[in-house]
Amino acid sequence: MMPSVTITRRGEERARAGHPWIYRSDVSEVEAAPGDLVQVLGSRGRPVGHALFSDESEITLRMIAFGLAAPSTDFVKARLAAAIAYRESLALDATAYRLVHGEADRLPSLIVDRYGDYLVVQALSQGIDRRLPEITAALVELARPKGILARNDPRVRLLEGLEQHVAVLYGDVPERIEVREGAVTYDVDPWKGQKTGLFLDQRENREAALRYAHGRLLDAFSYNGGFALSLAPRCDAVLAIDISENAVARIRENAARNRLANVEARAMNVFDELRELERTGARFDTIVLDPPAFAKNKSAIAKALSGYKEINLRALKLLKPGGFLVTCSCSYNVSEAMFLEVVAAAAADAPAEVSLVEKRAQGRDHPILINVPETYYLKCLILRKLA
Ligand code: SAH
Repeated sequence: MMPSVTITRRGEERARAGHPWIYRSDVSEVEAAPGDLVQVLGSRGRPVGHALFSDESEITLRMIAFGLAAPSTDFVKARLAAAIAYRESLALDATAYRLVHGEADRLPSLIVDRYGDYLVVQALSQGIDRRLPEITAALVELARPKGILARNDPRVRLLEGLEQHVAVLYGDVPERIEVREGAVTYDVDPWKGQKTGLFLDQRENREAALRYAHGRLLDAFSYNGGFALSLAPRCDAVLAIDISENAVARIRENAARNRLANVEARAMNVFDELRELERTGARFDTIVLDPPAFAKNKSAIAKALSGYKEINLRALKLLKPGGFLVTCSCSYNVSEAMFLEVVAAAAADAPAEVSLVEKRAQGRDHPILINVPETYYLKCLILRKLA
């Protein structure tokens, strides 16, 4: 007999609406072990689908298949193959990109990023963690990497009762991997870099920003220089700011490696530096704001909005008329509508007349599920200051 979990009417409604997560509060009966693939039953014993079960997380079930039919025994490999084929079809102009994006590739809580010949994997639930040997074998066969690293250090693993660790799953993984994104090459540290090494989700927004970037560029929250380096060839002078000394060292290294002599990097707090730039009368033609997620949970939304308002207000003041502001939010708790509203409020206060040039999201290798708002986490607005 297959393990099973019975859910409440409310849980059933969520699943029938196409949402892949069932919360603990919507679970009524469990006959399963941690990480099991279970049959999900509705309140009257009706089959709802199949899911991976977690006995620790608030997200108790992650749907693998909706409806009657059980997933095939090789569903993991089949879905990995589909995810890889989709990325190949995109013909991305980069050697680093996301190969598997969890829910949106029907492999909930599994992340696989490609960095050249290497893969970096994150298993963020009990069900996926238990299947890592199967996933590794399938990835070796399908993607033929030289090495696979498990970056299983995100804190969310603790919510699953899983330990945090970084380990090689296959082959060897060096401390530095050279990758290319458009015209820029980077040295990536897959062992210790933020996320799995790079902010891959911004690749297409960097490409889009290239259409408008000119003059003096300010790249605020630069990390290892993603926007600064890709936009530098179109700009006269670039100032990249990040609070992390280590990130700033990377920006300088990467600027030198790409022979971009017009990039200056400063280790500063953006909030302080924007104020200082305003005080000294500095002006820019192009500004990028790409802060970390200010709203990590629902209770942080109000404070996050005031943070977004402040940096956008200051940036709009520093921007010359005719200039472009590329402003991002990667908080999934802040919706596109909320973000637009806060940026509009900043424009009103600046005061600045601003038009919306492009409304963007994370790149296509990080797909959004239309029935799962949580998967639309990265918002990127490209704005033009008219006056
Ligand atoms: N724009 C980058 C990604 C930025 S991630 C890219 O395209 O790759 C957010 C960055 O903001 C991190 O590198 C973090 O170190 C930095 N950061 C966080 N708070 C900051 C602050 N108050 N001032 C400056 N940088 C900050």
